[in-house]
Amino acid sequence: MNKMKAIVKTKSAPGAEIMDVDIPTPGSEEVLVKVLATSICGTDLHIYQWNDWAKRRIKNLPQIMGHELCGEVVELGANVKNIKNGDIISAETHIACGYCYQCRTGLAHICQNGKIFGVDINGVFAEYALVPAANAWVLEKRIPKDFASVLEPLGNALHTVLAGEIAGNTVLITGCGPIGLMSIAVCRLCGATNIIATEINEFRIQLAKKIGADLVINPESEDLINMIAEKTNNQGVDVVLEMSGNPTAMLDAFKVIRSGGRYSILGIPDKPLKIDLGNDIIFKYLTVQGINGRLMYSTWYKTSRFLSSGRLDLAPIITHRFRLEEFVKAMDLMSSGNCGKILLYP
Ligand code: NAD
Ligand code: ZN
Repeated sequence: MNKMKAIVKTKSAPGAEIMDVDIPTPGSEEVLVKVLATSICGTDLHIYQWNDWAKRRIKNLPQIMGHELCGEVVELGANVKNIKNGDIISAETHIACGYCYQCRTGLAHICQNGKIFGVDINGVFAEYALVPAANAWVLEKRIPKDFASVLEPLGNALHTVLAGEIAGNTVLITGCGPIGLMSIAVCRLCGATNIIATEINEFRIQLAKKIGADLVINPESEDLINMIAEKTNNQGVDVVLEMSGNPTAMLDAFKVIRSGGRYSILGIPDKPLKIDLGNDIIFKYLTVQGINGRLMYSTWYKTSRFLSSGRLDLAPIITHRFRLEEFVKAMDLMSSGNCGKILLYP
């Protein structure tokens, strides 16, 4: 009875195992949740596939995978306040120290001593999970549990979209993975008037159109520069939201953004890029900004309000659902790219 199923990364090699492990007991500042839904992030796939980043980054095996969740609180640690049994929560995955310079100046999402859920400590691909109380985000019960489970990546999308002016702007979103797709939906809601997206996977191109991009370009088979020139009356786009991490997409975006535009980068390239600072940034008078995580917690207030208003429909972005036991199938699908967001249920 005090055992639970969990997907555990057991060794420094590709793969993971589903196994029975002890249901954990919350520490004084933690809550135990019954996991209702989880979603798979690119990071989970990297850990599963054991790429170079994962080899360098993951230190504490065996470890339960996963970090995006919706859960019901079933047990409280001794010092937990403001959360009750029965609360439905999602969780911020950046665990901040609370006392470094960044934490004390409103930048806890880039805490110097930050840890990450499912990367540095046990995660949520399990029947039960421990969540640091400071990171639990209590939700209105009317938010569907599937949407609640993707609140964290939705926060990445919203943080990037709202990192500058958006209403009345022409926006280019490079990369229509789950976060790019969510960004299309958020851009529409926030009044972007011309939404151009780029993507190379046909399944995701169709999803981007369905979610409401005005133009979706496949840069591998279409003329990106001319199509954007035509769509913007030769002005170029006002805003680029980089959501692919692909070096070609990242560099090409400098060619199609107008002088004086905003270039917000969430996507993570896997190696350093060579950029022509003079021509691409300085003379163009661009604002280029890196985006990391979510603002803690103003982004969370906004994503929750968008969802409880009923105005933000994530249903088209959630394309597949599996049981925990089927995680291998889910990971294979995720690595094919022929999907939007994939959910896993205990
Ligand atoms: P994803 O890998 O599912 O999506 C990236 C998409 O870009 C894919 O659909 C891929 O087909 C597409 N793509 C590849 N090459 C392209 C090209 N040349 N032009 C256009 N599109 C191309 O990732 P995701 O989960 O949606 O996340 C988006 C990015 O944000 C990733 O790079 C991820 O690592 C990064 N990320 C950053 C943070 C952060 O805090 N900075 C947080 C989460 C994710
Ligand atoms: Zn800190």
